[in-house]
Amino acid sequence: MIARELIEPESIAVIGASENTGKPGGKVLANILAHNFSGRVYAVNPKAKKVQGVPSYPEVEKLPNVECAILAIPAKLCADAVRVLAEEKGTKGFIILSAGFSEESTEGAELEEEIVQTVEKAGGSLIGPNCIGVLSPAYSGVFTSPIPKLDPRGCDFISGSGATAVFIMEAGIPQGLTFSRVFSVGNSAHIGVEEVLEHLDETFDPKKSSKVILLYIENISNPKKLLTHARSLVGKGCRIAAVKAGSSDAGSRAASSHTGALASSDTAVDALFKKAGIVRCRGRNDLITMASVFQHPPLSGKNIAVITHAGGPAVMLTDALSKGGLEVPPIENPKAKKLLQKLHPGSSVANPIDFLATGTAEQLEQIIESCEKDFDEIDAMVVIFGSPGLSEVYNVYEVLDKKMKSSKKPIYPVLPSIINAKGEIESFISKGRINFPDEVLFADALARAAAVPSPEKKDEPQIEIDRAAIRGVVENAGNGYLEPKDIQSILDAAGINRAGERVAHTVEEAAEAAEILGYPVVMKVIGPVHKSDVGGVAVDIKNEKSVRSEFEQLLQIPETTGVLLQPMLSGLELFAGMKAEKGFGHLVLCGLGGVFVEVLKDVSSALAPFGPKEALSLIHSLRGYKMIEGTRGGEGLDETLFADILVRLSLLAEVAPEIAELDLNPLLGSPQHVTAVDARVRIEHAGSS
Ligand code: ADP
Ligand code: MG
Repeated sequence: MIARELIEPESIAVIGASENTGKPGGKVLANILAHNFSGRVYAVNPKAKKVQGVPSYPEVEKLPNVECAILAIPAKLCADAVRVLAEEKGTKGFIILSAGFSEESTEGAELEEEIVQTVEKAGGSLIGPNCIGVLSPAYSGVFTSPIPKLDPRGCDFISGSGATAVFIMEAGIPQGLTFSRVFSVGNSAHIGVEEVLEHLDETFDPKKSSKVILLYIENISNPKKLLTHARSLVGKGCRIAAVKAGSSDAGSRAASSHTGALASSDTAVDALFKKAGIVRCRGRNDLITMASVFQHPPLSGKNIAVITHAGGPAVMLTDALSKGGLEVPPIENPKAKKLLQKLHPGSSVANPIDFLATGTAEQLEQIIESCEKDFDEIDAMVVIFGSPGLSEVYNVYEVLDKKMKSSKKPIYPVLPSIINAKGEIESFISKGRINFPDEVLFADALARAAAVPSPEKKDEPQIEIDRAAIRGVVENAGNGYLEPKDIQSILDAAGINRAGERVAHTVEEAAEAAEILGYPVVMKVIGPVHKSDVGGVAVDIKNEKSVRSEFEQLLQIPETTGVLLQPMLSGLELFAGMKAEKGFGHLVLCGLGGVFVEVLKDVSSALAPFGPKEALSLIHSLRGYKMIEGTRGGEGLDETLFADILVRLSLLAEVAPEIAELDLNPLLGSPQHVTAVDARVRIEHAGSS
């Protein structure tokens, strides 16, 4: 819960206020005064009676009661100031702009912790330290510029980096992007991105709240909280775009299993975003383009009309839309002929609709009207219109604005002439419009936005697994790899089909096991982790003589403690695995086995738990999915059996969070069965790493 005093204060004190707007304490005060804060404002400055016309006090002790305090004083002075404010002045909203805390030193971290405790004791909320502040329709509590146009329908923007927040606003403002609130959380000592998201969720008002949320995140300290509130907001009709910077996978390099090596913590971020309905963006321009798409009405279908007076951008746009899975369908409507007659000779209405460099505002109006009313095959329009600099295009953009207001089908403006039509674009934007200067960035964002699945309909696992049996094995196991018999118990309890198998320690046991299993058999060393790498797997053994000689050879391999025998199965090699990801829970991964996983890293993943729909969508998103469906020469497999195993793994993760890594590699799949022939399970009990 974020204190009301931070969000909508009735009074604000700037601690360390200055006349000099080149200093944070001067600029933040100037911003508050210049941007319609309606409450009382105080300054604290040891040397002045008034600062920028506002009453000033020599120290915080002398201040009257104040709801919100913005601190721009050296770090070492902050703890005392916060204590006086919290204990004596009834202050509950705190913004600390100053740096020099946990980001700098251990002493700084201690100071920060002390401040958080004081704020918490007072039931208050702290933003920062080490941030640019908070920007909202209530007040402009930031020490930076520019201040964007604040509009309740604009974007709510939460940033883990103050400077990046400024650069993102600078990128968005010239295109017409507006903001509702901006939270720069700095060190996130008390309130981080997750807590602000929680606040947006809990205070969401369908009539008043912004429906577009932007995030710039460097650390996700509470993935579950992020998931809960992002998902809830998306469910309420919000659209969320996020940059998550820092995707290094140092952690995965040390991992020993396939799953470990394939799933970096960045994979978990992708899975989290997917589950939450957050669109991941690569950088600032991608983020603001996505935000701009989100500020337009959503697509109701895939068919786009490209309306242009210039060939090149229309071709690039068409390519990019098609690549993203949207369509630019040919317009073969009988009414298209009538439209063509109204355009200059040489124009085309086939889609792209090209009305030539000499095209006029009136013609644009006719085209849009035809697309809206006559062409049922069209769901949305993109209008590309720039200027070679010969004449003004105000009238064209006026038509565009008018039509965007009235059209029931979405219209997206691509106005590329940021120099030749600068004045015209500014005038267009001043009407509350947003421009997409680059058609390819736009198309890419539009396609990704359209691909976000609507908030998940119930997709819970509908099956039960034997929880007691699984807990029994896991609780009795030490840290490290499980023995074959424990792996068998776990797979059986989870309901995952496995090859029949027997363990042999003597050549007689081996011969007997092969007889029971039935020829041909496969023999594998027990002990070495990567069995094939040490020549420890012998397949297709057809008779007792071979069993005996293989047994002797396998036992020679270092670290070998016994031999595992299995029937020789056939089928397509598949891979499934799961991995604990700190804070995120478990990731379940799947793919095709062999080169697909080793070389192509063709895997898809999701956060556990999930139901059959998500499991199937994981399988469908594999690049090698055609192999699973069955292609020339391959009969494929029953994908619902594979999906069922993934759902079971996701449940297993919930029942046994101690499973740090699990690999089923390979599973052999056919239209009749999907069976694990090799499994590795590593246990890591809590507090043991
Ligand atoms: P490792 O992964 O330790 O090298 P595996 O048990 O996965 O050992 O065996 C290596 C390969 O041998 C598998 O990828 C598969 O191609 C084949 N194989 C293993 N067990 C069987 C089996 N029961 N039936 C058919 N092929 C098998
Ligand atoms: Mg294997």
